[in-house]
Amino acid sequence: MRQNGTLDVAIVGGGICGLTTAIALERRGIEPRIYEAATEYRPVGAGILLHTNAMLVFDRLGLTDRIRDAGVALDDGEIRSPTGTVLQRLDLAGVERAAFGHGYVAIHRAALQRVLLDALEAEVRTDAVCTAVDSTAPPIATFADGTTIEPDVLVGADGIDSTVREAIVPGVSRRRLESVVYRAVVPIDLPPTYRRRGFQCWGVGTYTGGARIDADRVYWFGTAPEPLRPESADPAAKLAAIREHYGGYPEPVPSIIAALEPGDVFRSALADVPRLERWRRGNVVLAGDAAHALLPFGGQGAAQGIEDAIVLARALATRDEPAAALDSYERTRKPRADRVHDEARRMGWLATRQSSLGARVRNLGVRVLPRRLFDRIRRRRIAETPLPKATTPE
Ligand SMILES: Cc1cc2nc3c(=O)[nH]c(=O)nc-3n(C[C@H](O)[C@H](O)[C@H](O)COP(=O)(O)OP(=O)(O)OC[C@H]3O[C@@H](n4cnc5c(N)ncnc54)[C@H](O)[C@@H]3O)c2cc1C
Repeated sequence: MRQNGTLDVAIVGGGICGLTTAIALERRGIEPRIYEAATEYRPVGAGILLHTNAMLVFDRLGLTDRIRDAGVALDDGEIRSPTGTVLQRLDLAGVERAAFGHGYVAIHRAALQRVLLDALEAEVRTDAVCTAVDSTAPPIATFADGTTIEPDVLVGADGIDSTVREAIVPGVSRRRLESVVYRAVVPIDLPPTYRRRGFQCWGVGTYTGGARIDADRVYWFGTAPEPLRPESADPAAKLAAIREHYGGYPEPVPSIIAALEPGDVFRSALADVPRLERWRRGNVVLAGDAAHALLPFGGQGAAQGIEDAIVLARALATRDEPAAALDSYERTRKPRADRVHDEARRMGWLATRQSSLGARVRNLGVRVLPRRLFDRIRRRRIAETPLPKATTPE
């Protein structure tokens, strides 16, 4: 406990989850310390789609206007086949926004990071690499410069390759999906129909799509069963391979691909971590990708970490004993995160089908799914967002 009687909470990792957790704690009167490995925050990275459940949490934190201003609030989305047939439409304005006040927001990751850093009162301690958690009750963590900390509660929000996780469930590592993803942020003006529309196209072994993320730029992604060229290849040759692979997909994909410059695109392997048996040991707890790194199909990875943030802050602020608070957090969040984790894996399996027959059957299934059922599934997911009661201030 601090001298003023508030909990001393340390957060390892200042990504989307760590920063949102810190803001949620501050809103509840707890001043966290945040330790981030990077030496500085740089305005790099790709885009991200914030689904309605993430926006509902940001609404409680008073951040939605700033996030919408920095990104693009989408009105609808579409899933198409490689020949351009519309398989499903997502009426975000008519379903999500009408029922919950928010649809999806597409935003550059750096712009989101800026909004979060501006909202945070605490200073993030950068260049602070946690190397080990030596004890969980009480928590003791060591950093690369040899310093140690002994907070009341230690939150591991240090991402998919979490160091803090070793103290809770040792030996867990990434599980690779046999696919890679290319991502880029492209300066291009899309036709008016795509100004507020997210687009996806489900092909054979390839899933591609994107959305406008601000006035001048579009976020594009595309998966492939394996790298199209080795990492060491000449950037122009890598770009030519991308143009060849994705250029035949329906618009606006070819226009976006044509506007890419060598060096715009970066490639990542797709991976998740298996469901963990526990998220907490002693007074050390996991949140975000450290607890439940998902495959990106379904766009729920960051959203789940954002949900963690609000639930964890509420539990720590409303329970006297940290251990009881962390138990309550894990009981509330883990079953839902586990469900979403399994869904993302199933979607990943479907989205990366490499046989043309498998892909055709999948697309037919998506096309015949009644729109009302599709809308209902999304509404139900959003209604389950674990928000504090509206009367409880953040
Ligand atoms: C291709 C792709 C597309 C995606 N698209 C979406 C999407 O559209 N919508 C969505 O909701 N999610 C999406 N996601 C998932 C989303 O990116 C992640 O779930 C989210 O970024 C995780 O946030 P985090 O804060 O938990 O972890 P991270 O973002 O990984 O942040 C962890 C932080 O901890 C720091 N750190 C790591 N180790 C240490 C250490 N030892 N000591 C101190 N600091 C440390 C890191 O530097 C980093 O800043 C996507 C993921 C991928 C791969």
